[in-house]
Formats: sequence, C-alpha cells, structure tokens
Amino acid sequence: MISFLNLKAINAVNRDELIEACTRVIDSGWYITGNELACFENDFARYCGTSHCIGVANGLDALTLTLRAWKELGRLKEGDEVIVPANTYIASILAITENRLIPVLVEPDEASYNLCPLKAEAAITPKTRVILAVHLYGQLADMPALLEVAERHNLLVLEDAAQAHGASLDGRKAGNWGDAAGFSFYPGKNLGALGDAGAITTSDDDLAQTLRALRNYGSHEKYQNLYQGVNSRLDEIQAAMLGVKLKYLDKQTAQRRQIANLYLEGISNSAIQLPCCPNPEQHVWHLFVVRSQQRDALQQHLTEAGVQTLIHYPIPPHLQQAYAQWNGRNYPLTEAMHQQVLSLPMGPTMSADDAQAVVRACNQWAG
Ligand SMILES: *Cc1c(COP(=O)(O)O)cnc(C)c1O
Repeated sequence: MISFLNLKAINAVNRDELIEACTRVIDSGWYITGNELACFENDFARYCGTSHCIGVANGLDALTLTLRAWKELGRLKEGDEVIVPANTYIASILAITENRLIPVLVEPDEASYNLCPLKAEAAITPKTRVILAVHLYGQLADMPALLEVAERHNLLVLEDAAQAHGASLDGRKAGNWGDAAGFSFYPGKNLGALGDAGAITTSDDDLAQTLRALRNYGSHEKYQNLYQGVNSRLDEIQAAMLGVKLKYLDKQTAQRRQIANLYLEGISNSAIQLPCCPNPEQHVWHLFVVRSQQRDALQQHLTEAGVQTLIHYPIPPHLQQAYAQWNGRNYPLTEAMHQQVLSLPMGPTMSADDAQAVVRACNQWAG
C-alpha cells in the first residue's frame, strides 16, 4: 500500500537531531515560554520576512486570537463581517464565529480553489472589516489582487497560512502579505511539530504585543492582567522540534514539488482533472488534489490498486450540523468541489517509484 502521508518516515529524517533537542529541553529544567520558543519565533519571523512571530497552542488559536486582538485594539467589533472562502477547512470559520463576528461565505475561484478577488469584492457591505484569505492545499491565494481590494475598502487582511508554509509570490512569503497570518504546525502540516502547535506572523507591533498578552491569560507582565486572555502557549519541547524541522522545510518543499511534477506530467486521463499551478513558487503542495465527476469510483479504483487517498473535504462548512442555520443555502461551486475532489499521496519522503505507481494507477482507470 502506498500510504497517503508517512509521518514516521518524515520525522525519521531528523530523528537524531530531534532527540538531541528534546534532551536539551528536558535537561534545561524550563518547559514553558523560554529560550526555545524565543529562538523559534525569531527564526520563523525571519523565514517569513515579518517583524514578529507569536507562538500559540495550535492553528485555530492563531486565527481566533488574531481576530480577538483586533477587537481588543478597537479595530473590530461584534457583528462585523469577515469575508472567507466557502470551501475552506472549518477552522477558518470557527475562528470568526468564536469572536461573534459574521462569516460571509464566498465561492472560490474554480481553477485555484482560493478566494476569488472579484467575488470577494462583490460580497463587501458597509459592515465588512476583514478578508480572511486561505492558502488552500498549499497554494498562495491571489494576494496582490486581494490586497488591492482590501486597500480600496479599508479592510484588514488575515491569511490562513496553515497549509502554505514557505509558499511565495514575487519573493514574498505566505504570512507576509496580510496584516497578520495564522499558521498551524499540526504534525501533518508541511512544517509539523510532534504534537499541537501554531503561530501568528505580523509586522504590526501593537498587534504582536496584544497577542503575546492574550495567549498568556491576558498578561504582559506577571500577575498584571490587561485582558481576559486564554492559555494558548507553544511549549518548549514543540518549539525545539520546530526549530530543527524549519531548517529542512525548503528542502522538503522541493521534494513535494518533485512529486507534484511527476503527477502533473504523468497523469493523463480525461476523467481526472489535475490541479492548476501557474507559478511553481506559489504552491508548496500540502495536498495534491485532483477532481473527477466519478470521484468515489476513482477512490475505490485507487484503493484496489494499493494507493491510499483522502478527501479534503467531504462536507463543506455550510452543510455541517454545527452551522445548521446555513444548511439551506446554496454554494454550487463549493458543493461540486466537495463531491469531486480527491487527494493523492504526497509528502517529502515519498519515492519517485511510488509516485510513478500512483500515475500508472490513475492512467489505468477507465473512468
Ligand atoms: C489545519 C488547519 C487549521 C487549524 O490548525 P490546527 O493546528 O489543527 O488548529 C486552520 N486552517 C486550515 C486551512 C488548516 O488546514
């Protein structure tokens, strides 16, 4: 069986260094908000090209706390609208509703699966304050056009960069386009911890300061609480793991791009639609997502051929029970995508032979 993602193999690449870093933390006697976190925050801010990186407990918190911080800073208030792609992973939307802001779901661009600047602009009302751009599947959204829309309408821009570590356009990386960006370091993400972790990148000093307080009970200084904050910290062990793995991210992205190129050049089947990638730097291939009218039959065929696949995602947010109030709405493009998308095996340790076997299995499918 060709597995969808082999996390054990990925972490085996730096096994000795990870163990060494773990040992360093154990022996330091300091386990929360110490030197490991400060070093990783510094390294990741430099990697993204922003002035600040604020480590938090996970990617959902990174998004939720950023919106919360903007409320504390008086830039947002309850009931303000946030434009977000209708086909995103539900976490982007949970961050909005958790803050009692209103998500305005917008159908994506058909070719990139990302927020369409024209449709986003058409959805703006007098209550709109934020564009939440998601770099879905690892492809940077059309940020130059979205920033133009935001500037014209005086909107904040938040990037959901949970799937796009290292994606770039014109030399500018994911996490460095919006007023702020949320990253996840969930183990299966392109930069993954060995547990939960997340971070916000921003070049806004006030926002960074507010976030540092919010993640730590609302406290800038011990026992002085400015806000009703939360406990959402990135611990020393995970920061140390991420510090090791960040050094290998670009190499691993290159390996993902090689697998993607084998798929793009090799798969030729009129019943399988390949992803579009106009600019190689813009995509870091967190997922390689194909489309088919007979998706379930394709998945079954691949399973029988020994190829493990997954669906990202089977149910769109507006059809989830959690958002029952939206269940009657129609987003035809989003709904079609959820019925048609299928993610092929992808990862930095996947061999070219395995990728070729996936190509053959796809090409053998009668459709
Ligand atoms: C993974 C993910 C998140 C949430 O990250 P967690 O660390 O799992 O909380 C948010 N948005 C997108 C697009 C994601 O893929």
